[in-house]
Amino acid sequence: MTIDGYTRTCGLIGNPVEHTLSPLIHNTLAKKLSHNLVYVPFHVEEGKVLSAVQGAYALNVLGLNVTVPYKSQVMDALLEIDELAEKIGAVNTLVRMEGGFKGYNTDMPGLYRAMSSEGIQIEGQEIILLGAGGAARAVALLCASKNASKVYLLNRSVEKAQAVAGEVNEKTGKNVILPMSLSDYHHLPDQKFLAIQATSVGLYPDTGRAVIEDDAFYQKIHTGYDLIYKPSHTRFMQLVQKQGGKAYHGLKMLLYQGIIAYELWNDIAVSEEMATEVYEVLKEKMGI
Ligand code: NAP
Repeated sequence: MTIDGYTRTCGLIGNPVEHTLSPLIHNTLAKKLSHNLVYVPFHVEEGKVLSAVQGAYALNVLGLNVTVPYKSQVMDALLEIDELAEKIGAVNTLVRMEGGFKGYNTDMPGLYRAMSSEGIQIEGQEIILLGAGGAARAVALLCASKNASKVYLLNRSVEKAQAVAGEVNEKTGKNVILPMSLSDYHHLPDQKFLAIQATSVGLYPDTGRAVIEDDAFYQKIHTGYDLIYKPSHTRFMQLVQKQGGKAYHGLKMLLYQGIIAYELWNDIAVSEEMATEVYEVLKEKMGI
């Protein structure tokens, strides 16, 4: 592309940002849609988030993504926060408006769009959710909001599972999230579940591990969705498949959180055909 005086800038703030796939998503979209837009990663040092956001606004930056460890901290630097992001308590997308940036969360709608595109339903389902960190919290909120009938939230630190369950149940006015200790998985009812893996266990470079190793647990899973996308075939996925279940990795979630951000910045709808084309580019980069 030619960068000229009309080129709009978007970017990612976080620490670290060096291994991000987001520039590939956004610059591919800009190229395919013939938008004069460039997306760059910005490594922001601890304590500099506020000045980074103010500086980006002063530099006429169109929009930003926000990654670890700033998804909560950045909320103090915003003019407005979308209702869903407020509920989740984390912002991953900033959209330029008159006087400052508005914060959104596209991770949760991104996961929903990714799951829907695979034909995976949340509505009316009994779900096992592994983890109680930032991602799991958003997934628990998604499941409750989309009317899952029950969500067994299993975490190593049971207090965290209890805190997330309490908060999500209160915010949604539903009593569907049931906290459990990870080691109590054998107490789960004897039936088949959709399981969403939202812990960091198995993430590159520690790829040989799954949060639960027992085959008996995987016999209870008809579909396993791992939020991890590096590696693209996690140990969790292998264990699900070994017991006959279907297994998915988190690359499509990454794709759609990016697409939704791009839609917000440019006030457009990205077609499914275009999403598929960008996904092919991402897969090629990942060697899938
Ligand atoms: P986080 O806030 O650090 O939470 C980590 C979770 O993993 C906690 O529940 C923690 O349990 C659990 N955990 C860590 N080590 C463990 C161990 N050895 N045994 C058992 N449990 C362990 O991380 P996060 O931001 O929620 O991210 C979680 C995962 O989601 C990451 O792998 C990330 O890559 C992935 N993710 C993917 C996307 C995507 O677009 N595909 C987006 C966001 C996140 P304790 O509470 O007991 O410590």
